[in-house]
Amino acid sequence: MSQQMGDSHRRFLQTMMANGIVDEQGARALYQHCCETHNTQYAPDKLDDFIDTINSRLQPMFMQIRKGMSEDNGQQYYALVNMAETNVTRMSSDYADNELELFRKTMDLIVGSENGKASSTDILNSTDTMTAKKLKKSETEHLLNRLVNDKWLNEKRGEYTLSTRCIIEMEPYIRAMYQDQVKVCHICRNIAFQCQICENPACGIKIHNPCVARYFKGRSEPRCPACDDFWPHEIPEVRRPQSRSRR
Ligand SMILES: [Zn+2]
Ligand SMILES: [Zn+2]
Repeated sequence: MSQQMGDSHRRFLQTMMANGIVDEQGARALYQHCCETHNTQYAPDKLDDFIDTINSRLQPMFMQIRKGMSEDNGQQYYALVNMAETNVTRMSSDYADNELELFRKTMDLIVGSENGKASSTDILNSTDTMTAKKLKKSETEHLLNRLVNDKWLNEKRGEYTLSTRCIIEMEPYIRAMYQDQVKVCHICRNIAFQCQICENPACGIKIHNPCVARYFKGRSEPRCPACDDFWPHEIPEVRRPQSRSRR
């Protein structure tokens, strides 16, 4: 259904351009606000149609508002993504070559880890093998702060993870670059970094932590949905969507 793009759509898009990413709750509130401001028809269940209309206009510019799940809280987010360049080089207007090299090394560490995390110590150590101009300790720390502020990475207690925005935007690049290492979540089929892994070596499926919480909720004895072995990990609580948590 191709609806006309109106002022309400334009206002929504402008806010997406300013923020880069909003959670589902925020997107719903913004949708309502835009419709009410411009006196256009508002239907609570039509957010995705509203976004499709914007996306049909963004397509020639290789942009898209795409939906994805936060690995931290399991909530859905909407991000405005660049479809033309999903490569790390698209960040080259904001970051120097050696900074991008370190970001790639950080991605290598995160993708290669079991839990989807890289410690600040491991990232600092990885500067030893840089081919571009080596970053000093203080420069590396400053760069990591910038990557968090620009919403490419998340940081919690000295450990770095890929942000929701980074995963939504760079998924095609990550799938192509790390074909052998990347696995998808057995439940939601999105790529999985922060997750639990089946300990049966013949199985080894991954499930995101929020997907684990939802899947095993109310089951008395957790068993792997693929091989039926006992699921030995602690089952996290289902997080309530009310908490406006980090991306
Ligand atoms: Zn999942
Ligand atoms: Zn299994």
